[in-house]
Amino acid sequence: MGNAEEVEVLISKEELDRRVTELAQQISRDYQGKNPLLIGILKGSFVFMSDLIRRLTIDFTVDFMGTSSYGASTQSSGEVRITKDLEDSVAGRDVLLIEDIVDTGLTLRYLLDTLKARQPASLKVCALLDKPARRLVRVPLDYYGFIIPNEFVVGYGLDLEERYRGLPFVGVLKQRK
Ligand code: 5GP
Repeated sequence: MGNAEEVEVLISKEELDRRVTELAQQISRDYQGKNPLLIGILKGSFVFMSDLIRRLTIDFTVDFMGTSSYGASTQSSGEVRITKDLEDSVAGRDVLLIEDIVDTGLTLRYLLDTLKARQPASLKVCALLDKPARRLVRVPLDYYGFIIPNEFVVGYGLDLEERYRGLPFVGVLKQRK
């Protein structure tokens, strides 16, 4: 189910609202006169992305990619599998990847390398959360919402075994006594 009572608030709904609005304003300024392709990385980014795009003041299109990393669910192995690919070509497009969270950076590194080979006009990244403590590879975060400590977070699209995605805030699971 994913009860809010089990989760301690790390980033409140109000803080998310404020920051997502700022990011949308910044992206709208930077892509003024362009028609970027926003690519949401499933599943975690869909809540952030739906809030973000409703605050953009520019033309854009959206697409989605699904990834899963081989190995245990809370530990990225570096080997990334594309479970859903894009519907349209990115060649010549201004691509903005929308990620929920960047942890080791391995998923993002793989996606950037894969998409770069398809020759977009430009390729940038917008991540809601940056968890730099466990970073293994260097990745550019052109836009980010919040830097967070080395904790496993849930809510606002992020899950633990598919639970908690619907929480309106980002939180950390409380220790069970
Ligand atoms: P990376 O490849 O950067 O290590 O991991 C990226 C993916 O791991 C994210 O897109 C997300 O799906 C998952 N992930 C990393 N840290 C967290 C976390 O704290 N909470 C949740 N729910 N997922 C995480």
